[in-house]
Amino acid sequence: AASPRELIEAARSQGVVMVDLKFVDVPGQWQHFHVPIDQLTEQAFVEGFGFDGSSIRGFQAINESDMLLVPDLATAFIDPFYSHRTLSLVCEVRDPETGRPYERDPRYIARKAEAYLRATGIADVSYWGPEAEFFILDSARFHQDQHSGYYFVDSDEGFWNSGRDHTPNAGHRPRYKEGYFPVPPVDSVSDVRADIALTLQSLGVPVETHHHEVATAGQAEVDLRYASLTAMGDRVMMLKYVAKNVARRHGKTVTFMPKPLFGDNGSGMHTHQSLWKDGRNLFYDKDGYAGLSETARYYIGGLLAHGRALAALCSPTTNSYKRLVPGFEAPVNLVYSKRNRSAAVRIPMYSQAPAARRIEYRPPDPSANPYLAFAAMLLAGLDGIENRIDPGDPVDRDLYSLTPAELLSIRSLPGSLEEALEALQDDYHFLLKGGVFTKDFIDLWIAYKRQREALAVSTRPHPWEFVLYFDV
Ligand code: GLU
Ligand code: MG
Ligand code: MG
Repeated sequence: AASPRELIEAARSQGVVMVDLKFVDVPGQWQHFHVPIDQLTEQAFVEGFGFDGSSIRGFQAINESDMLLVPDLATAFIDPFYSHRTLSLVCEVRDPETGRPYERDPRYIARKAEAYLRATGIADVSYWGPEAEFFILDSARFHQDQHSGYYFVDSDEGFWNSGRDHTPNAGHRPRYKEGYFPVPPVDSVSDVRADIALTLQSLGVPVETHHHEVATAGQAEVDLRYASLTAMGDRVMMLKYVAKNVARRHGKTVTFMPKPLFGDNGSGMHTHQSLWKDGRNLFYDKDGYAGLSETARYYIGGLLAHGRALAALCSPTTNSYKRLVPGFEAPVNLVYSKRNRSAAVRIPMYSQAPAARRIEYRPPDPSANPYLAFAAMLLAGLDGIENRIDPGDPVDRDLYSLTPAELLSIRSLPGSLEEALEALQDDYHFLLKGGVFTKDFIDLWIAYKRQREALAVSTRPHPWEFVLYFDV
């Protein structure tokens, strides 16, 4: 719809009775509430809808909790997961006192990043192509360990943490690291993925491919067609929402946690990116290494130089660091290469076309808040361009096979969430440029992630500690 009035009329003529107002919290989950269709007036697109922001993760303190949601017209879709005909709108969060966008709204940070890119004059648009991986499971049951209070997961997927296998037809189940990518019946979730992809397409989110991934039964990848930064943030939110809800209708459950299975591949969200100006791809130069321009090399330089701090936003959970270990196609080292899947930056060589020249940043995983992760990567890359940060020579060897002496000269990603948060504490100025991130937000992120996640995990006895130490 071109205007609020048109949208309201279209919704009424299509029998919409409810409006679902969605927004993203700080860690990156959609939150929502409903209003009946008669509340959706033209005025509401200006004045917004009030809600209590105090119970939203990362939002306001209780004494200043009144907030507004202002729907973004461009995000309208008929939500297929409610039984009443429901119009969904993703909203901007505003402070009712100032009427200004709320500085802790991750989607606003994404929009500011796009505005900053234009303001630098370097490019007018950035394009983003995330490859979200996730697990589709028959079921997941969480058990609480009596002694440690620690929860762990048990599932019918067979080759699972618990080592139990209750599943019939285990003969057709891919073993660890053998899921890529035999036809059914070994691939038992192809229909679920197709249903996810088709639902996304029907909601206006173009999908390029879906396939089984390397890990055992149920690891999936759904790749979205590239889009600009905030739009792609919205689409990643949509992908997670659709994947979880479609899977539920199939009696399955989905997790985007980066490393649910010890000993098998984890789930990444490699992110392809490029900068464009006047319809021209700034990353392309037919004479450069792997067809990359000098601008692209500096952008890579920025990603690698800030890679440790970026990890706090791109790999932002304690579980992320169980994925970022050698031997599972996940990156560990802050170097770049064409083809090489063990490098943090890979330059895909599938197509030589100028428009296809892009870089793939591999550390991110789907536990990231996409708005924050994309904004942070863009700022790191721009910092590289502005300060002409040289990424050094590419490393085209298998990095997992380097000797300890060779590895000494190579910087690596943080080994834990705590280490990543420390890296962010030491290196956040590039994120403040253009006011994209505020210092308040960086402080909030570090405190939130440290208290609620890093410390919450590190202070609980782990089940494996009982194996190691019970008998000491
Ligand atoms: N699952 C791997 C990861 O954690 C990536 C596999 C691939 O190259 O697509 O990054
Ligand atoms: Mg993949
Ligand atoms: Mg990839």
